[in-house]
Amino acid sequence: MKIGVYPGTFDPVTHGHTDIITRSLRVFDKVVVAVAPNPSKHPLFNLAERLDMVQLVMKDIGQVEVTTFDGLLVDYVERAGAHAIIRGLRAISDFEHEFQMALINRKLARNVETVFLMPSEEYSYLSSTIIKDVAHHGGNLSEFLHPEVAHRLHERIRSLKS
Ligand code: ADP
Repeated sequence: MKIGVYPGTFDPVTHGHTDIITRSLRVFDKVVVAVAPNPSKHPLFNLAERLDMVQLVMKDIGQVEVTTFDGLLVDYVERAGAHAIIRGLRAISDFEHEFQMALINRKLARNVETVFLMPSEEYSYLSSTIIKDVAHHGGNLSEFLHPEVAHRLHERIRSLKS
């Protein structure tokens, strides 16, 4: 069974992430979505909240497991019995950072490959950061997020402002 691990912060999960997961399932038998704590990124949602939203969005997509991990990603990938790290590539801006990560991960674990997938054009500009910006200014998020995720994001921003 070919297993791929898709790591990220998912703060919050967007249709861009879902698009990458759906595409991954054409290549892998199973995808493990690994939500990273990433405290240094100061996420808007805590780890449990991010996990819950990814689980909610993925509930109807088969062969997807949602979990969290701590420590080195490549160690987790090996523990999970997976063969590859899945990453999404948006515009060229993602490339440099992703290239560096892929090479360091390959140095750390020779047997773990990184596979890059490109999203549908309509999501190629989408990031959790830009979504949070739109939400902050009261913009409509229905094209970018699952309705419940959009609701939770608006609520979070409202509570921060009050
Ligand atoms: P990280 O903090 O690791 O960048 P993210 O949750 O921002 O976590 O992203 C996880 C992965 O999903 C990364 O590989 C990122 O490039 C990819 N990704 C995020 N949004 C999109 C999108 N709209 N299209 C394609 N890939 C995306």
